[in-house]
Amino acid sequence: MSERQKPVLRVAIVGAGPAGIYAADLLLKAERPFQVSIDLFEQLPAPYGLVRYGVAPDHPRIKGIVNALRDVLDGGNIRFFGNVRFGTDITLDDLKRHYNAVIFTTGAIRDAELDIPGIELLGSFGASQFVSWYDGHPDVPRDWPLDHTSAAVIGNGNVALDVARMLAKHAEDLLPTEVPANVYDRLVASPITDVHIFGRRGPIQVRFTPLELRELGELRDVDIILDDADFGVDESDERSIATSKQLLVINRILTEWRSRETGRASRRIHLHFYSRPAEILGSDRVTGLRVERTAPDGEGGAHGTGEFREFPVDAVYRAVGYFGSPLDGVPFDDRRGVIPNRAGRAIDDEDERVHGVYASGWIKRGPVGLIGATKSDAMETVQALLGDQSEWWSPSEPDTDAIPRMLEARGIRYTTVQGWHRLDAHERALGEAQQRERVKVVPREEMVEISDPPATAQPT
Ligand SMILES: Cc1cc2nc3c(=O)[nH]c(=O)nc-3n(C[C@H](O)[C@H](O)[C@H](O)COP(=O)(O)OP(=O)(O)OC[C@H]3O[C@@H](n4cnc5c(N)ncnc54)[C@H](O)[C@@H]3O)c2cc1C
Repeated sequence: MSERQKPVLRVAIVGAGPAGIYAADLLLKAERPFQVSIDLFEQLPAPYGLVRYGVAPDHPRIKGIVNALRDVLDGGNIRFFGNVRFGTDITLDDLKRHYNAVIFTTGAIRDAELDIPGIELLGSFGASQFVSWYDGHPDVPRDWPLDHTSAAVIGNGNVALDVARMLAKHAEDLLPTEVPANVYDRLVASPITDVHIFGRRGPIQVRFTPLELRELGELRDVDIILDDADFGVDESDERSIATSKQLLVINRILTEWRSRETGRASRRIHLHFYSRPAEILGSDRVTGLRVERTAPDGEGGAHGTGEFREFPVDAVYRAVGYFGSPLDGVPFDDRRGVIPNRAGRAIDDEDERVHGVYASGWIKRGPVGLIGATKSDAMETVQALLGDQSEWWSPSEPDTDAIPRMLEARGIRYTTVQGWHRLDAHERALGEAQQRERVKVVPREEMVEISDPPATAQPT
């Protein structure tokens, strides 16, 4: 059978982060007895999800992953509909009318909760809000109250390191990056001198990755302060170090830092281990953080000791994990913040398959893992979808023109791959004028305006 005679599988993918784009790529590359037509819907005017709006601006190597993602979008076989939000602009019924199946790759974009007294005080922030601000996300306020001289960061994962680094790093050292202009201006004026990072468990139980941890010690004019009392506490550390290369390197980094001379830098990052946040202090705004000393429980966890300490800080950032958001008409696990699934196939409360609905990326397995992991994730989901032919939806309106018609009839000003090229070129040109990689356009309307979608220029 020639390629043109083969039946067409029409797939909608919702979410144009790495998981969505990798899923599209794998669908196109898979061995299959049918043609594939893919429409990628994204609530933001630009693609790439957390690669654009999560990865820190001073991680250009990681940001460079967009080049590979861009090649997939440019392949000409995927239609991109940006500025289209599932749940408001399009619904599950719409998708059933036009496609054989949908893959949700909507990620996790809000902060997991931390239920301690004082969490609601002024000056207590979720890391995701701060990250969105410094990465120029169009849907968060343009300004950030960076008036604190000392801040606490709760968490021992890479996001905590990003937040601490962005707070402590001298703004001039961010200038060559794609940090947005309004963010740079705010950071230059920041009076911060001390950032305290708190982790519940010990230095060998952290979730940092070595590369990101090492980076902290390379910041100009920033001392790293460690407390000797946090080391050699857990007898199982030696065993952990002997069995994990990652922990071995982390231990080496921390040991080297402990022997460094400190006292000359104008800013400091303090790493506190065995410290469980118990209460954020303050009456109308944050004035401190109360932590309980913990001790190892012998099983990789820690228990409270009843000994409390207070740290005067003007702001608290909780970096205790991200959390997925429910999608209208799609099963959702409130506890884990994911679409419940088996190998990417959505399942309902009764543990039954929800035909035609698939998940991949952080919304499938929770907000852990690096960008690379979303590729293996997508592979599993795509295999499942391709093997389920008898369960696909039978769309009543499979016509490819029906989608742009529907969006236009609803007054939705969607962006396209060609529009993204225009915005990308615009941002790069702004950057070039200042010897920078790019200068991001932040307001949504301006992003859409520059993308200026021609309604008919999409490949079909
Ligand atoms: C602060 C931070 C820093 C990170 N740094 C690194 C790093 O340095 N290196 C690394 O490898 N990994 C890093 N990661 C992890 C990496 O970002 C994730 O592994 C990856 O982005 C997950 O991909 P995803 O496609 O599942 O989700 P996302 O990247 O979040 O993409 C989901 C997309 O879905 C869209 N969407 C959501 N809801 C809807 C809706 N209703 N309708 C339409 N579209 C919707 C979103 O706008 C988004 O574009 C970092 C993560 C965070 C949070």
